[in-house]
Amino acid sequence: MFDKILIANRGEIALRVVRACREMGIQSVAVHSTADSDAMHVRMADEAICIGPPPSTQSYLSVPAIISACEISGAQAIHPGYGFLSENASFVQIVEDHDLKFIGPSAEHIRMMGDKITAKDTMKELGVPCVPGSEGGVDSVEEALKIGEDFGYPVIIKATAGGGGKGMKVANSAEEMPTAFQTARAEGKSNFGNSEVYIEKYLTLPRHIEVQIFGDGKGNAVHLGERDCSLQRRHQKVFEEAPGPAISAETRAAIGKTCADAMAKIGYSGAGTIEFLYENGEFYFIEMNTRLQVEHPVTEAIFGVDLVREQIRVAQGESLSFTQDDLKVNGHAIEVRINAERLPDFAPCPGRITQYHAPGGLGVRVDSGLYDGYSIPPYYDSLIGKLIVHGRDRPEALARLNRALGELIVDGIDTTVPLFHALLAEPDILSGDYTIHWLEEWLAKLA
Ligand code: ADP
Repeated sequence: MFDKILIANRGEIALRVVRACREMGIQSVAVHSTADSDAMHVRMADEAICIGPPPSTQSYLSVPAIISACEISGAQAIHPGYGFLSENASFVQIVEDHDLKFIGPSAEHIRMMGDKITAKDTMKELGVPCVPGSEGGVDSVEEALKIGEDFGYPVIIKATAGGGGKGMKVANSAEEMPTAFQTARAEGKSNFGNSEVYIEKYLTLPRHIEVQIFGDGKGNAVHLGERDCSLQRRHQKVFEEAPGPAISAETRAAIGKTCADAMAKIGYSGAGTIEFLYENGEFYFIEMNTRLQVEHPVTEAIFGVDLVREQIRVAQGESLSFTQDDLKVNGHAIEVRINAERLPDFAPCPGRITQYHAPGGLGVRVDSGLYDGYSIPPYYDSLIGKLIVHGRDRPEALARLNRALGELIVDGIDTTVPLFHALLAEPDILSGDYTIHWLEEWLAKLA
């Protein structure tokens, strides 16, 4: 059993892990850059170690600094959160070589799913439905044009190493293909050091539906239903809900079983998310994330489980604390991402918080490191908080979201809160009738 866990992350997710550790009686060690000395995760953890200057490459991504912090503090395990080193297979290998435990899946599974072409091939073999497209990588414009013709336009060219919406380009016609192909390759190379790309049919009216899975690393796995994360801007999620408004209990059970069986078969360990596009009643696998997702709290709300606690248990070699039969959907949950961004162009807006008041009451959860007087540093992601509401059904969750947003005060900077007030006045949002293109089209109309 672990006595001490080091959290190789910052912001709300680092706090989230500190909270789980405290409830489990485990000491927590925060690491931070010099820009984050005053951050809440540093204040709340039992110990804190400065690991470098502001740029993440010299702090939150510095493997030697993080390993040294473990050795100095005597932490036995590392929780990576999301982003940063959470899906870096070589980091996992180094952690294990130092006799430390990585709280997450094996390096092998991270590597398998981190390369999108390998991930798709694996999922296909495991019987998971995939988006139709090229067999593996596509090396030339000529080959890309041939695929465009075979599958019919539009198609999407995707970097195999891509993530965070980078390295993806749509080609609507053969004329657009050469530029789209070269741009996707160039983005893959510059952002991820890998120019390999593959091609998929571009689905025009899908929803983004992702299935939460959990494996014990011993051949057992369960699913915790789905989240609908279709409301996206530039392929980045802003509003997530569970269960999905378009998914029936039968559909959930069927796709959930497909995913859980696949994960059991490969002996997956810990939390994972299998992402699909869902169109005309069919699921198409797009990628798997081998970590905890930003939007995990909506799943926690409807199933009443603590996913971080479960990750820690599994990493300690314990079995899952629930079986598939124990997992019953209870009500409806919605999360909105509060970003330090100025509308309408979503420009990053770091700065000093002059006044902060978090909403509360029945069914309201706020995961955030904000406090009065806190200065948001300009070096990192703009996510500064998540507001999660839970109700007995979707209308109740929506009403609660409206009420909670009204109580929230974040003064001194601009945030995405006005976006959510506006969305809650839209009939399509209230009825749950939206696809992955809805938000961009709606924003374009406002511009
Ligand atoms: P990333 O790893 O960068 O997040 P994903 O493969 O998960 O990339 O795709 C992110 C988003 O891009 C999806 O949620 C969807 O909105 C869009 N997308 C990806 N593949 C397709 C496709 N074949 N057709 C239509 N949209 C797609």
